[in-house]
Amino acid sequence: MKTTRTRILGLALLCFVAATAGCAGRAAGPAGARTETVGADVALARLHDGNQRFVAGTPIPDKHLAQRRAELVNDQSPFAIIVSCSDSRVGPEVVFDLGLGDLFVVRTAGHVVDDVGLGSIEYAARHLHTPCIVVLGHQRCGAVTAAVAGEAHGHIQALVEAIRPAVEATRGQPGDAVDNAVRASVRRVVAMLQKSEPTLSGLVKAGTLKVVGAVYNLETGRVEWLP
Ligand SMILES: [Zn+2]
Repeated sequence: MKTTRTRILGLALLCFVAATAGCAGRAAGPAGARTETVGADVALARLHDGNQRFVAGTPIPDKHLAQRRAELVNDQSPFAIIVSCSDSRVGPEVVFDLGLGDLFVVRTAGHVVDDVGLGSIEYAARHLHTPCIVVLGHQRCGAVTAAVAGEAHGHIQALVEAIRPAVEATRGQPGDAVDNAVRASVRRVVAMLQKSEPTLSGLVKAGTLKVVGAVYNLETGRVEWLP
């Protein structure tokens, strides 16, 4: 009798442990466990899959935010650095269907990266060991439109100046001038980050950091990965 009861109790305990483990796995969300470290290819696959869920209108309904918040109190290990425009329509956690602790985000109008932005990126790449950077431009970017028009007031001029080389490089090309400049600007920022001394270039050469470019389509919600 005692043996049977012990067996039942043991079985119940096993079921509880299994259920709890399953729950914890889901709670960790697309990023997996908090302490998990992944390579660039896995990180990029997660971004790709998350964007596909966003486009399809099938986001993960419950990201276990309260539990995730508790897991992240003392530590973080975001699996991607996103350098994107400040535009309200391009929120990275939304368009990649991700949650707390997944992304380290640097946003400025026109995805311009200055020394302060670079310092932020270096912090994540070097100290948080985040394995990839995505420079995310977008369709009909206001800052790039201003740079193409050559008109800006106040401190917006600083953004326009930073984007101007991309505008000059694509002037006269067939197609939409803003779209061309957005793509050129993304590629320029990718190249700049890959070569950036003293931190990022070394990580890229060592194969522990990948920098890629992408453009977000406002109409479809799709992120197009640039070759
Ligand atoms: Zn923009």
